[in-house]
Amino acid sequence: MNRKNIVILTGAGISAESGVPTFRDSDGLWCNYKVEEICTHDALDWNRPVVIDFYNQRRKQLDEVQPNKAHIELTKLETKYNVNIVTQNVDDLHERAGSSNILHLHGELRKVCCTSHPDDHVFKLETLKHGEKETWKQGENDKCPICGDLLRPYIVFFNEAVPNIEPAVDLVQKAEILIIIGTSLQVYPAASLMYYAKSDSVKYLIDPKAEPSSRVSNLTIIKEKATIGVPQLVDKLLKE
Ligand code: NAD
Repeated sequence: MNRKNIVILTGAGISAESGVPTFRDSDGLWCNYKVEEICTHDALDWNRPVVIDFYNQRRKQLDEVQPNKAHIELTKLETKYNVNIVTQNVDDLHERAGSSNILHLHGELRKVCCTSHPDDHVFKLETLKHGEKETWKQGENDKCPICGDLLRPYIVFFNEAVPNIEPAVDLVQKAEILIIIGTSLQVYPAASLMYYAKSDSVKYLIDPKAEPSSRVSNLTIIKEKATIGVPQLVDKLLKE
């Protein structure tokens, strides 16, 4: 049987109901911080303790939350379709829900990388902190076990290139069905991904603030929270 390709593009909104604040909503935790003081390479150079602490707080929070119904329902699509998730999120809730193919565009909170070899020397924090109590925590002066240079969060900072954008474009171009969930579509290049979809592919956008777009063909808007909209759509797609 020829399985259809589904690509699911997720943003902070899918994790909101797990208790992870989004970026731009009015209750978004990130509105308490100035992005340029935290999420840039310059900030890491000049304000290292603050940057490391900011990401450690996000990591600690990750230990306190669980995947929600939306993350879990998406895994059911794998029984009938080839499913690839392209996420802007740096949390690991898709992984913990059990999805098989996940491409992170903006990095992963649970990982760190070497400042000198950010693409090659990448480590899961828990493997570096073996035997320690707080395995989720990055130390301010943690060094790369391969070359000894300082480690940094495995996060794509603002103004940095997004290395996974090319494989993401490839996936979107091959998709027969594109599902976009919980993103304000304001962060580029991620926001441009939907424009690479085939014009005859079927597209869905699930977001309580979603607006119709005249630039995207075959788009169905589901103006719902993820835990309501995703189960409805999964149910429909499994019956088709
Ligand atoms: P954003 O904050 O810009 O937009 C969030 C979107 O989610 C909004 O459109 C909002 O209407 C929608 N939303 C809110 N609650 C929802 C719900 N219950 N169900 C469905 N949708 C809901 O987020 P973004 O577009 O993903 O861009 C923010 C950037 O910040 C991303 O690049 C990401 O890397 C980062 N970020 C990640 C996390 C995370 O990993 N969970 C959290 C915050 C920010």
